[in-house]
Amino acid sequence: MLRFRLFGFPVTVEPWHWLILAFIGGALHIQEREDILRVMLFMMAGFASILIHELGHALMSRLFGCRHVAIVLHGLGGAAISQGANFTRSQQIFISAAGPALQACCGGASLVLLLLLPRSFDGPAASLLYAFVWVSLFWALINLIPVHPLDGGQILREALGPRRIQLTLKISIVVAVVVGVLMFLLTRSLLFPIVLGFTAWQNYKMLRASEQRGW
Ligand SMILES: [Zn+2]
Repeated sequence: MLRFRLFGFPVTVEPWHWLILAFIGGALHIQEREDILRVMLFMMAGFASILIHELGHALMSRLFGCRHVAIVLHGLGGAAISQGANFTRSQQIFISAAGPALQACCGGASLVLLLLLPRSFDGPAASLLYAFVWVSLFWALINLIPVHPLDGGQILREALGPRRIQLTLKISIVVAVVVGVLMFLLTRSLLFPIVLGFTAWQNYKMLRASEQRGW
């Protein structure tokens, strides 16, 4: 397990993080030596991009007065965990938006850099930058869809408030199913549809529990 500190935040990287990144990067289709390099560059870009995303959440939490924020990079993504914090709903919305915002900014800036660099710029550095742009923009966008507990879903929950949690969960289920089907049609990969399907199921269980409690 990799552990280090970044801007004063303790960071833990679980082994699953590397494994899932390798899988998404095409580790199952390695045939030549160049493929190994391509997968490793994708893993580096994904790690950096997701770390920046969580850093966005952590920095905003610190800005709102939380002193103990830890970053964990796990299987499919990461989390910035605030301890002993009592954020208001609007602060929570800013914290949830800060992750994708910082990540998209870094991805966008890298895209501009890639477009400005001469065509002769290629090789591993170009591949790394290209993978970073791709992961950053895609990850920021997918995290902003209104599906609980993704960042977009957290924003929706805080915007609608605790009294309308059932509406948040219903929207999450519908959007997760629709986006899951679209992702399959676009990519023909089952990874994200499975994750979104599982998320829809979790939201459905929470909805049933909420209905049984009567709120
Ligand atoms: Zn996030």
